[in-house]
Amino acid sequence: KYQGLHYDDLLKTRKGRLSPALTTYYSKPLALHQGHKQWLFDVDGRRYLDMFGGICTVSVGHCHPKITEVVTEQLSTLGHVSNIYLHTKIHEYAEKLTAKLPGELKVVYFVNSGSEANDLAILLARAYTGNFDIISFRNAYHGLTCQVMSLTATSVYRYPVPQSPGFYYAMNPDVYRGIWGGGACRDSPVQTTRTCSCGSQCIAGINYLKQLEEVYQYNIPKGRAAAFFAESIQGVGGTVQYPKNYIKGAFDLIKSYGGLYVADEVQSGFGRTGEHFWGFEMHGVVPDVVTMAKGIGNGFPLAAVVTTPEIAKALTKAQHFNTYGGNPIASAVGIAVLEILEDDDLQENSKQVGTYLLLELEKLRQRFSVIGDVRGKGLMIGVEMVTGDGSTTPLDPGLMLKFWDRCRDLGVLLGKGGYFGNVLRIKPPMCVTKHDADFTIAVIAQALEEIF
Ligand code: PMP
Repeated sequence: KYQGLHYDDLLKTRKGRLSPALTTYYSKPLALHQGHKQWLFDVDGRRYLDMFGGICTVSVGHCHPKITEVVTEQLSTLGHVSNIYLHTKIHEYAEKLTAKLPGELKVVYFVNSGSEANDLAILLARAYTGNFDIISFRNAYHGLTCQVMSLTATSVYRYPVPQSPGFYYAMNPDVYRGIWGGGACRDSPVQTTRTCSCGSQCIAGINYLKQLEEVYQYNIPKGRAAAFFAESIQGVGGTVQYPKNYIKGAFDLIKSYGGLYVADEVQSGFGRTGEHFWGFEMHGVVPDVVTMAKGIGNGFPLAAVVTTPEIAKALTKAQHFNTYGGNPIASAVGIAVLEILEDDDLQENSKQVGTYLLLELEKLRQRFSVIGDVRGKGLMIGVEMVTGDGSTTPLDPGLMLKFWDRCRDLGVLLGKGGYFGNVLRIKPPMCVTKHDADFTIAVIAQALEEIF
């Protein structure tokens, strides 16, 4: 039984003692007390199906007993020692994590958050190439340290302070909302209902690549780029998928401009997209640097940057240190997550349940005109809500909130994202079942029937 502060006290503390800049979900914020697998319980003991996994973070399920066990054991053996010493866990974890990556991606730096990982990747790219300029997508989210804030390219996260120099933005290759269309050209199971007729080269992809090339041409002399950053599927941006072959083209372009390809796998890594362990694999590229966080630690503050031995050497030009990165507990958690993913066959589950959910959501799209688009891969799903008049005009924010609140009242927690905040983001713990998918569909359908 919950015995902490009363709900009203929580609200008061949040208002007076926590940063006023904090985002709070729902019109009446949810006060959570307990988690179990794909379930969350509020302070009154009410159960919710967590279809957002703490922003795509809880990968193997809330309070997984194996994680509790390894943390308890590690905490009572050697809780913290920083990486200035040898300790078995960080070495074991480095071996196990890098074994999951292809090619020369065999050197890892452990850090504590996705923003830190991307910050380090920027440094690594600049130190290795000797170049400064970096390209990312408009609408991308890569984190919010002062420097990474400039890599993130969405105005809602921009403070009225000078941004870091050396960042350029390419048009977001968004095949639903973008100017060149191409909805049928993305690589996704729901495409069974829409067929791409472009042949081997998708027109939208070619146009977006031309625009990307122009960003280089007008801003960055040949050979002078440091890095191109992209998520394999955009997360916070609203589960945006790119046209087929676009990423391969973007990879070739950054190479021809002398820079590194950095894959931000903070959301799309660790089997979430089902077919592959890493999102970049669906695009047929092997990045120079991979950044990872969230699902890597199932909610534990753990993140990493993996690169090749040659690129890694660039960081020896000065000293680099991180107190907590890969500490014994973090490493023990990281190892446990890798083992659970395998033991519980969660990548395959993501594929099975995710594909089923996508196809069921697609059926809802055909029933309700306010669902403009259903997209994603595995358990990284987006449902874009529109006005329902056949256009892509985003659903009114008030109605979106009403709909979203109603899903929560009916027992399902969903995420929200996209530039207009009109995309439902579905990224549950990867242990969700087909039954949970059915429940989610039933709740969304009921909320849609009631409100629209
Ligand atoms: N990259 C991506 C793709 C993310 O989604 C996020 C977090 N939403 C980050 C980086 C930043 O991670 P963190 O909040 O752990 O700093």
